[in-house]
Amino acid sequence: AWNFSAGPAMLPGAVIERIQEELPDTNGSGMSAMEMSHRGADFRHIAEAAEADLRELMAIPDDYRVLFLQGGATALFSVLPLNLANGSGRADYVRTGHWSSKAIAEGRRFCQLHIAGDSEENEYTRVPDDYDFDPGADYVHVTPNETIHGLRFPDLPDTGAVPVVADLSSAILSEPINVRDYGLIYAGAQKNIGPAGLCIVIVREDLLTGAREGTPALMDLKAQAGAGSMLNTPPTFAWYVAGLVFQWLKAQGGVEAMAHRNRKKAELLYGAIDGSDFYRNPVVPACRSLMNVPFFLADSALEDRFKSEARDLGLLTLGGHRAVGGLRASIYNAMPLEGVQALVDFMADFERRYG
Ligand code: PLP
Repeated sequence: AWNFSAGPAMLPGAVIERIQEELPDTNGSGMSAMEMSHRGADFRHIAEAAEADLRELMAIPDDYRVLFLQGGATALFSVLPLNLANGSGRADYVRTGHWSSKAIAEGRRFCQLHIAGDSEENEYTRVPDDYDFDPGADYVHVTPNETIHGLRFPDLPDTGAVPVVADLSSAILSEPINVRDYGLIYAGAQKNIGPAGLCIVIVREDLLTGAREGTPALMDLKAQAGAGSMLNTPPTFAWYVAGLVFQWLKAQGGVEAMAHRNRKKAELLYGAIDGSDFYRNPVVPACRSLMNVPFFLADSALEDRFKSEARDLGLLTLGGHRAVGGLRASIYNAMPLEGVQALVDFMADFERRYG
């Protein structure tokens, strides 16, 4: 079966096997990673290796801290203004779809928030044509890949000296990025990294000036960095699985190799959609996501049949998000070309029968 879920998403088969194998006895400790004390040497080795591997995969510079936090990406929607909007108290946000809208709704509660670029009027089919950045803002928030609308920034907007804060939940590790282009990167783990609940934060050290008065201790990024993400018990099992995924990625040839594979997968799927009047993707080609491919049938009455026939063939979780309807195939790192080929073959067959 191939799981096209947007998240929690498919893990590489080799990682699932390794978890199974190591579950009763991880690294000769006589216990499972989920039974280890987060303060003990066994877990410390797992945690440190995971961070070192992520640093290598993303070429994270030494003046950036890596945090393994709880609360998913959504927790960061409030953590960001509480920690970063402490200069002018103003922050710029770019609205490009569902998830940036969520970040905006929450961010507004904690800072003077200005929408500096907006794709709402073109129904999130391309990134904004222009921006109105405030040079005195404390940060600019962008969502480089919108998981629901399938919209990707081909390039980051130029924000001058204002740090870019990016929600990379559905794009992290899918293609190389220059970490230096960002002040802070965050990503919920459940797409390209591992189990839900864990959120990875990569933050430039000079931005860790301390959260504003009244911030809950667990949401204070400086305090979390000082405690090695262990102010309380971290999500140890998720952290361990993330480490296995990082090892798998390295064995696959790293992020560059994944990007090559991801581009081939996306080309195959968008090619099948564009090559037919039966299927449609509304996003302009230059802004299409490599990871999340929403599509619609010319006859929406056939959607349920499409999903149920696909499910019978082991092509799972192809429903679009309830906010936009239609269908969606998420093709994260763990999805091989073979899975996308199986979907494309089914799409052609379905069109032959119902088109
Ligand atoms: N941001 C993006 C881009 C997402 O795709 C998601 C979840 O799908 C979230 C944020 C929310 O993540 P979480 O459920 O981990 O809070």
